[in-house]
Amino acid sequence: MATKYIFITGGVVSSLGKGLAAASIGRLMEARGFSVTLQKLDPYLNVDPGTMSPFQHGEVYVTEDGVESDLDLGHYERFTSTVCTRDNNFTSGKIYESVISKERRGDYLGGTVQVIPHVTDEIKSAIRKISKGHDIQIVEIGGTVGDIESLPFLEAIRQFRLESGRNDAVFVHLTLVPYIGAAGELKTKPTQHSVRDLRAIGIQPDILMCRTDRFIPKEIKKKIALFCNVPEEAVITAKDVETIYEVPLVLAKEGLDAILLKLLDLPYRDKNMDDWVQMVEKARHPKDGEVIVGIVGKYVTYEDSYKSLNEALTHGGIANDTRVKLRWIEADNLGGDGALEEAIGPCHGILVPGGFGIRGVAGMLEAIRHARERRIPFFGICLGLQCAVIEFARNVCGLKEADSAEFTPATPHPVIYKLRELEGVEELGGNMRLGKWPCILEAGSFAYQAYGRSEISERHRHRYEVNRAYLEDMTRRGLRVSGQTPDRRFVEIVEIPEHPYFLSCQFHPEFKSKPMLPHPLFRSFIGACKRYRQTQR
Ligand code: GLN
Repeated sequence: MATKYIFITGGVVSSLGKGLAAASIGRLMEARGFSVTLQKLDPYLNVDPGTMSPFQHGEVYVTEDGVESDLDLGHYERFTSTVCTRDNNFTSGKIYESVISKERRGDYLGGTVQVIPHVTDEIKSAIRKISKGHDIQIVEIGGTVGDIESLPFLEAIRQFRLESGRNDAVFVHLTLVPYIGAAGELKTKPTQHSVRDLRAIGIQPDILMCRTDRFIPKEIKKKIALFCNVPEEAVITAKDVETIYEVPLVLAKEGLDAILLKLLDLPYRDKNMDDWVQMVEKARHPKDGEVIVGIVGKYVTYEDSYKSLNEALTHGGIANDTRVKLRWIEADNLGGDGALEEAIGPCHGILVPGGFGIRGVAGMLEAIRHARERRIPFFGICLGLQCAVIEFARNVCGLKEADSAEFTPATPHPVIYKLRELEGVEELGGNMRLGKWPCILEAGSFAYQAYGRSEISERHRHRYEVNRAYLEDMTRRGLRVSGQTPDRRFVEIVEIPEHPYFLSCQFHPEFKSKPMLPHPLFRSFIGACKRYRQTQR
């Protein structure tokens, strides 16, 4: 079967949840037995989001093949069985980079290189690049209709539809239908405007997904249908939900997947969402109370910065039948008297996530010391591992000036230092240890117990690593290296076996956790938090 395409655009405002909409459609189509792939096209000019601050663009999601990509790819992987690669995310920067290098090589044979057709051709071939072997490809266009920079992408998908035929590609437009309290009404005007903008550039949406806080009554749907030139049944309410995993269920109730089958002329197949429904039920109504996890980080004011982490903790809760309540703790504010006690006091577990730069590190070290000494479950991820090693070196081994070369380049005790192959490299784009690496676990460790096997593979994103020169001293005093690369070059997991649960890893396990397949380390950490909660009662 030739691949069918679902293009998703967004209107009115950003942050309506296009990524979740795309992922949810993917889930529904897989539940009907179709093989699905998803792709994100981002109009910004960065070649990839790797150099962007998480404050600007949310988390940088890392793929198996080591590409720093958009956080929506995380939704795709969590909701479907897609494993994303470098070809699942294209930015304008990446498209232009390729067009310009072709121009420099002389590939355009003296022609004038233009947005249409050269850039749009490049976009279309980027779309086709991942189609092979999939029944359905869902392509999400970042940004909002009306942005100057998204025009080449919209033009490219307009051409794509024209070339592929009516039943092979559909346009889904996600828009906002706000409820105006003063008028007591749902307002359709923003949707009308955004569809008009889309039609002005030659795209007539086939389906409108209307983001609202309530179900849209029939007469309003009728009005939207009339003004936007779509059939009434194709006006779908995308209602706000309690947990994001409910989105596919709400969309299915509105008949979205059935309409897609019809428009794309796909064979009817039964849908099986039973296991998903059960999972959502578990997430919404856990039987075993709640645990509070304190996340001590530097980007905590902006939750999108830790999107996958947030989800992985939720998954750990699902696996333990408990609700995980997150307590975001600004690492910078842990300095003053009693601030630490107050921030951490109510927590059943402490997590220090990944990050870059020295800001907040002092607070993280204090939080780790507290967790180590008071025997509170601790989970460190990437920067969290590096801080755990520094804390141990300073406070257990007595190396008061131990530090990471990232924070204090001239430290006399660089227990964390720059990856050997990066010595002398100053450029920041795409030059970290990235993507999947194998790791061997030591029997009897917390990690081994969690995974239940000794060979694992996890995703990385870092420039600094544990300096093995200090390991002998540290392991003699109670630190355990429980995971390393098979060649024993990189330290991947360190633990304190004498502690109820103290584990930190150099990789980012959060990127591989799914609601239906909670990650072993999040499952075991939340399990430890539950045991700690027991002791507090
Ligand atoms: N800044 C640290 C490094 O580059 C940690 C990176 C991270 O937490 N992702 O090694």
